[in-house]
Amino acid sequence: MKEISCKLLVIGAGPGGYVCAIRAGQLGIDTVIVEAGRPGGTCLTIGCIPSKALIHAAETFDAARSMSAGENALGIRVEAASIDLSKTVAWKDGIVGRLTSGVAGLLQKARVKIVHGRARFRDGKTVEVETETGQQIIRAETVVIATGSDPVELAALPFGGRVISSTEALSLTELPKKLVVVGGGYIGLELGTAFARMGSQVTVVEAMAQLLPLYDADLTKPVKRRLTERGITVLTDTKAIGLSETGAALIVEGPEGRQELPADHILVAIGRRPRTTGSGLEDLDLDRTGPYLRIDDRCRTSMRGVYAIGDVTGEPMLAHRAMAQGEMVAEIVAGKKRAWDKRCIPAICFTDPEIVSAGLSPDEARSQGFDVKIGQFPFAANGRAMTMKDEDGFVRVVARADTNVVLGLQAVGSGVSELSSSFSMAIEMGARLEDIAATIHAHPTRSEALQEAALKAMGHALHI
Ligand code: FAD
Ligand code: NAD
Repeated sequence: MKEISCKLLVIGAGPGGYVCAIRAGQLGIDTVIVEAGRPGGTCLTIGCIPSKALIHAAETFDAARSMSAGENALGIRVEAASIDLSKTVAWKDGIVGRLTSGVAGLLQKARVKIVHGRARFRDGKTVEVETETGQQIIRAETVVIATGSDPVELAALPFGGRVISSTEALSLTELPKKLVVVGGGYIGLELGTAFARMGSQVTVVEAMAQLLPLYDADLTKPVKRRLTERGITVLTDTKAIGLSETGAALIVEGPEGRQELPADHILVAIGRRPRTTGSGLEDLDLDRTGPYLRIDDRCRTSMRGVYAIGDVTGEPMLAHRAMAQGEMVAEIVAGKKRAWDKRCIPAICFTDPEIVSAGLSPDEARSQGFDVKIGQFPFAANGRAMTMKDEDGFVRVVARADTNVVLGLQAVGSGVSELSSSFSMAIEMGARLEDIAATIHAHPTRSEALQEAALKAMGHALHI
């Protein structure tokens, strides 16, 4: 049995763990990272990246199909469009391969030792790993738990056969004719829309009264409109009961009573739960917040020298939050004075159109006692949106009425995900409406709507 010791041991090489290890390596810390699967974790292998690849392919195919369907305003005509999903998935797998080997290369460059295998805790500072070459014991002064999350399963619809999670949905090589999606959240709407754009007949079953409850009604309205335009059936206030006797349909119960929804596949996307079982973590008896590991503003758990980052620590379960925590923890381990002081964690829903939100919505700002000024500028008055033939949506700014300090920025519209960094930067740097209004925004771009929203909040928008 091989035994190694290190200063820092990171369990899990997802965006949280690998960023933590790279930064620690850069800072000269003797670091080991253990990964049971591929470097890059959920995000790079079965999450963010593969889903965005599929969404892009679906969007491209949909554009080609609409051009082959008849006359269009741009005057472009293509012959009948078709899609070979197995080729699309192979292309997606190629991107995943490039990125995962890129992460392994970055870890090596930072002189981080990678151990391939599943770690099992013996105590807070010691793990055993079953590797291809036998068992390894790793002892460390400091441990970072970055084990991520797994999809939640419904007791009445266990994964297997027709019932799939996002992982299987991202590797289907044949397009399902009928796809039922249980859960109208991030994954359900991103992937449900992608499959509908590729030609599947999609039904979304959502237990709550509304889709994407994280975002306010104004932001989700254009998304709902497009779901309807694409022929996606949305059943809200509806619960999945189980499979029909033949197994070829999902039985649901909603305001209209019970009904059977025939399906080639049923994608269950009702949230994710932290990966805290099966690796001896249970025996460490760390404090929890609900099912998640409890952390403080330095990502310290209740055990000295044991940190936790990323999805295992709770919402928002987003890759960029995990990365920011990982970078911070590496610096803390190196002795730097750091604490979680971020003003916002932007969130994007890659639906059609996209939604982006940073900081507080108008209602959140009011409920925190702020008197607010709001400026909303529609893409219908933005030249670039017109040239892209997609004028749906708007940019909205929420600012303190007394000081004009920006509290929140939101947008819905085609390609607005790329506005997220200016939104976060404005909030992180404590910008006022005047700062955004005085910044020259290049023309013609959708970002001009941000400048105009700030001007509008001050009462003098120029282009509306
Ligand atoms: P993970 O990425 O889950 O990585 C954890 C790693 O730990 C895994 O590689 C796992 O194999 C390893 N591991 C676990 N236990 C052990 C053990 N005992 N021993 C060794 N290794 C272990 N977020 C966004 O910000 N933007 C998006 O667009 C986005 N899209 C998504 C789409 C889908 C379909 C899904 C499922 C998720 C998406 N997410 C997105 C969420 C994002 O993937 C996660 O927030 C992010 O991956 C969390 O990073 P993490 O490092 O905490 O954990
Ligand atoms: P989610 O929390 O976004 O949505 C789950 C939805 O399922 C909710 O609307 C919920 O009301 C509904 N639901 C719960 N139980 C149900 C039931 N029994 N029947 C029908 N509906 C039910 O979860 P998700 O879509 O599985 O995504 C998981 C996490 O992954 C997200 O919370 C997010 O953190 C991350 N993610 C992020 C992105 C992104 O950043 N663009 C994309 C995909 C996933």
